[in-house]
Amino acid sequence: MDDKPVAAQNGEVGKIAERVEILGVSMANLRQLLLQRLGIPERYRAEQIFRWLYAKQAISFGEMTDLPKSFIPKLEETFEIGRVILQHESLSVDGTRKFLFELSDGRSIETVLIPSEMRDAFGKARRRTLCVSTQVGCPLDCKFCATASMKLKRNLTTAEILLQILEVERLAKEDITNLVFMGMGEPLLNCDNVVEALRIITDPLTELVGKKRITISTSGLPDEIKRLANEGLDVKLALSLHATTNALRTTLMPINKRHPLEEVLSAMEEYYNATHIPITYEYILFDGLNDSEADIKRLAKITRRVPSKVNVIPFHPIDFTAPEGIAATLHAPSAAAFNSFIQRLKEAGVQVMVRSSSGKDIEAACGQLALAHADPAVLQANQKAIYSIRV
Ligand code: SAH
Repeated sequence: MDDKPVAAQNGEVGKIAERVEILGVSMANLRQLLLQRLGIPERYRAEQIFRWLYAKQAISFGEMTDLPKSFIPKLEETFEIGRVILQHESLSVDGTRKFLFELSDGRSIETVLIPSEMRDAFGKARRRTLCVSTQVGCPLDCKFCATASMKLKRNLTTAEILLQILEVERLAKEDITNLVFMGMGEPLLNCDNVVEALRIITDPLTELVGKKRITISTSGLPDEIKRLANEGLDVKLALSLHATTNALRTTLMPINKRHPLEEVLSAMEEYYNATHIPITYEYILFDGLNDSEADIKRLAKITRRVPSKVNVIPFHPIDFTAPEGIAATLHAPSAAAFNSFIQRLKEAGVQVMVRSSSGKDIEAACGQLALAHADPAVLQANQKAIYSIRV
């Protein structure tokens, strides 16, 4: 066993080597680091540490009581366990909780916890879905989405993606049962870190969330969709479709110009063929824009390509971002028009689901994440929420 300090091994004698963020390090890499830096060859030691970090959510190595005491200072010298700091939390009348977390560089992200309406015998929500962010902001500029107003600041690290789950489980004192990658950012523009995070989340050792209960939502990046198809992760994939013609989709989602519908839909088809997991198409209904009889026909045709369903989403207003241009003209249809669209789509043979608008009163619904609550004025204006507190 080599007892030289880590800095010396790195050839940086006299200078303290930077510690490695341990969250997000894969099992294989952890084993290698333990061997190289600490001289610990046993696989079960890496597994113990994995369990402490993710299943038992330790925030320090000192808590890892089944490791030999002599390991602890060496682990502390080599690794750090990152944190995200809760800055603000709001609770919606429907039970949705939105968390604003500060990252180590001072930037912030939002994470949303959505309890299902279905309750068990003790009144506890049967499903607790966490909506995680993958980027600080987003570069894609979708006209209906509040996050677009932030532009892209940076990708989240694998650790920061995982920390949203760990921190919310600690704060809420309950397990997350389902995971959706539908928070801030485009997950497939941060594909490496999202894939790394997914490998850890779905590793049975971490006891986090099973692959059948995870959905990645994408605006439609064909190469990355194909990559994901071949990663063997077998998570559900949802495409933000929102329009059935290239002309309208490009107006609403500029990314469609680079990757038009046909290209995206064949990538989704490839995803289905590789995984046999039915596809979800997300479809926000905009009054007078994408709700015609012709849209229903085209939508039905798209869904017949591979087993799939359409998730119709009510448009959540993003007025608080002071939208301009086409963004300012977008409106939700009336309830009657909305219901009629759903009915006609079903009659066309499409499997339809309606996404609920959980957390709308606290700007935590889909597409409303834009750090609105960082601004005290918005906080004040937000009167419907049960609470909205700065931590
Ligand atoms: N970038 C990814 C994931 C984030 S958006 C994607 O594009 O899919 C998550 C979901 O919320 C997407 O389906 C998105 O289209 C939808 N969404 C965005 N803004 C919305 C709004 N104002 N109202 C309702 N849904 C919205």
